[in-house]
Amino acid sequence: MPASITRNLITGGAGFVGSHLVDRLMQAGEEVICLDNYFTGRKSNIAEWIGHPRFELIRHDVTEPIQLEVDRIWHLACPASPVHYQFNPIKTAKTSFLGTYNMLGLARRVGARLLMASTSEIYGDPEVHPQPESYRGCVNTIGIRSCYDEGKRIAETLCFDYQRMHGTEIRVMRIFNTYGPRMLPDDGRVVSNFIVQALRGEPLTLYGDGSQTRSFCYVADLVEGMIRLMNCSHTGPMNIGNPGEFTIRQLAELVRAKINSELPLIEKPLPADDPLQRQPVIDLAKQELGWQPEVPLEQGLEPTIAYFREVLAP
Ligand code: NAD
Ligand code: UDP
Repeated sequence: MPASITRNLITGGAGFVGSHLVDRLMQAGEEVICLDNYFTGRKSNIAEWIGHPRFELIRHDVTEPIQLEVDRIWHLACPASPVHYQFNPIKTAKTSFLGTYNMLGLARRVGARLLMASTSEIYGDPEVHPQPESYRGCVNTIGIRSCYDEGKRIAETLCFDYQRMHGTEIRVMRIFNTYGPRMLPDDGRVVSNFIVQALRGEPLTLYGDGSQTRSFCYVADLVEGMIRLMNCSHTGPMNIGNPGEFTIRQLAELVRAKINSELPLIEKPLPADDPLQRQPVIDLAKQELGWQPEVPLEQGLEPTIAYFREVLAP
């Protein structure tokens, strides 16, 4: 094996986004260490690489330190769905803080570049719309989403303090709502919920009246942006997402039209602190990475629905 081959560590690599990144880096001929505690990830997501000479799988929790020789750390380990991150909120905060602290410590020791998967949630329930990177956010420090939102905010802070104090090479990616194959059927996020409900012939559950908005990015677009960000020289936080903004009711209508237009929409209580609107400004990514999403929601729903059809097949 050539000595110059890039050695990647992907934390959360068995999860939804992480496993697509594993695929891309393996296909590019790089070495990949996938590290996961399998809280929301599954071995089946990376099964095709198990046994490959350039691939290693480690069961590990990022709240504990680990020593590895790597060139690049893609730090994604953290549950992303509100249902999962609220299951044990103290653990979520620990994962964000201690996990990022441990990975930055590793990056510093071995001189690796670290990309941290941050989130649009650091903008909270935004008063500025759409959200540029310069917006500082409106986050409740004590609500049910805080373990995740504040966890990611302190994770960003740690990254920039490691950069300032130790010269650690960091990249901070603010990911907006992403969907695609390999989301869990019981993930709890809206795209998977609606598709699974529609395929099971159940009513689609709108939380509130469905007038809140999100902007949905297809996973292949996101991973392309992630790789470009890791490779570029820009270190400041960067939004990666699809600016196509939809109300949740519009999303339900789209899914219903594609699967079964007879299904009813039912309203359920809106969870506390649920952001009213969310749309990324992606000028920075366009300028620095030459990146913008290619897959509109309408189109990205197709492979996602096909995936869930297969997963739910008896
Ligand atoms: P996911 O839940 O599918 O993946 C997270 C992975 O991290 C899972 O494999 C899980 O088992 C693993 N994990 C969780 N806690 C861990 C721990 N303590 N130690 C080791 N592994 C652990 O979520 P995802 O959608 O793939 O999100 C990946 C990353 O991107 C997360 O950091 C998330 O916050 C961020 N993000 C995702 C979205 C999105 O819409 N998908 C939006 C914003 C940010
Ligand atoms: N949502 C919904 N029905 C569902 C799941 C979610 O109406 O079955 C709403 C949720 O209240 C939020 C939006 O869809 O307003 C996006 O929710 P998700 O959990 O996917 O992501 P996040 O809120 O973290 O952006």
